Amino acid sequence: MRNAIDDSRIFEVASSVKDDEVLRLSQDLIRIPSIYGQEKELAEHIAGTLEGWGLRMKTVPVKGYGPCVVCAVGKGAKRSIVLNGHMDTVEVKEGWSHDPFGAKVQGGFLYGLGALDMKSGLAALMIAFRTIADSGLPLRSGVTFQAVSGEEDNGIGTRTLISRGFLKGAKAAIVGEGFGGLRVITNARRGASYYDIDLLGRSAHGATPELGVNAVADAARVVVALDNMKMKTAPNLLSEELKPLRETQTVLNISGGSFSLSVPDRCSVNLVRFTLPNRRTDAREELASVIRALRLGSSTVISLKEDPGDLYHPYLTSPASDLVRTASKWVGKHAGASPKLVCGVSEADDNKIAELGNVPVICLGPGERGRLAKYHQPDEAISTRQLGLAARIYCSTVLELARTP
Ligand SMILES: [Zn+2]
Repeated sequence: MRNAIDDSRIFEVASSVKDDEVLRLSQDLIRIPSIYGQEKELAEHIAGTLEGWGLRMKTVPVKGYGPCVVCAVGKGAKRSIVLNGHMDTVEVKEGWSHDPFGAKVQGGFLYGLGALDMKSGLAALMIAFRTIADSGLPLRSGVTFQAVSGEEDNGIGTRTLISRGFLKGAKAAIVGEGFGGLRVITNARRGASYYDIDLLGRSAHGATPELGVNAVADAARVVVALDNMKMKTAPNLLSEELKPLRETQTVLNISGGSFSLSVPDRCSVNLVRFTLPNRRTDAREELASVIRALRLGSSTVISLKEDPGDLYHPYLTSPASDLVRTASKWVGKHAGASPKLVCGVSEADDNKIAELGNVPVICLGPGERGRLAKYHQPDEAISTRQLGLAARIYCSTVLELARTP
């Protein structure tokens, strides 16, 4: 049967993706600046491109940011497979030797702001989506493309889509962001939690410190103790650097004291903790016990920032899941080597898709590692040979997942 979605037909459809076309679309996307909060023009361009392909799309407003663009095929299917990518970039950092919006190709690399993070991934998702829509194959799951805003800020675009029900009941989600390129699949990510630790001492004249309790000196002891805490390792999980995944925490800020001749009575410490999958995100009790052991004169209050833009739970999508197995299989077939499964070390939209949307998710896309991994750096670039390959992998993975309801 010509229209059955078997592996050879999937391979044939995916192989129709032209490298040049993904490259040209990546260049178009790079040439339209879209620093977070300023995604409107790019959103309009993407919406127009989808319409030009004969696809019906929707824009979803996001307060303070450009709108998200959503496009779905396979109407009537109860569950859908979501392709998600962010449109926004960080600011232009100092030190570019290329035009950050020039999208120049040189020595096999495409240069530009967002080349890695993640306009080439977004272009590959779009071309894969169009190829799937045009394939005429009888999809038994829906397929949805989502271009989102505000990812580099606080993930507001994806969070808006989740709260508006756009990921409800989704069967799987692929975020087209390649942390390390197409030889790895990110099927897990650490969680992130931010803490304020407020110390209250007792003021006294600065010439008689013995009469007061110095909150700044106590905070310094807290910082050292936090820095020396023994952190857990997950021996079975690899980080993006292909090392055993560790929990980490970083003191971000310490502030307090006065410029009068007084023993300072207040000081605050801000901390971020990155948590392993299957571990509690809220570390307040653990932090409190370390601080208690210091027997400080100051009293301390530890608060967790619980806003959804601050608190990210870790996730782990099982290596045995349909999503991870299918994506691994097609990376192997198209790229010639099975991918390694890795755990993302920082927070991203896939945390929210797993946590708030309760959807199995992976990150997979064009990307670089080592000295080429210039994420959020000047002269960001992507090797062009990954672009069509990424689209073929997306196309195949989604078609296979979509051949069952
Ligand atoms: Zn990104």
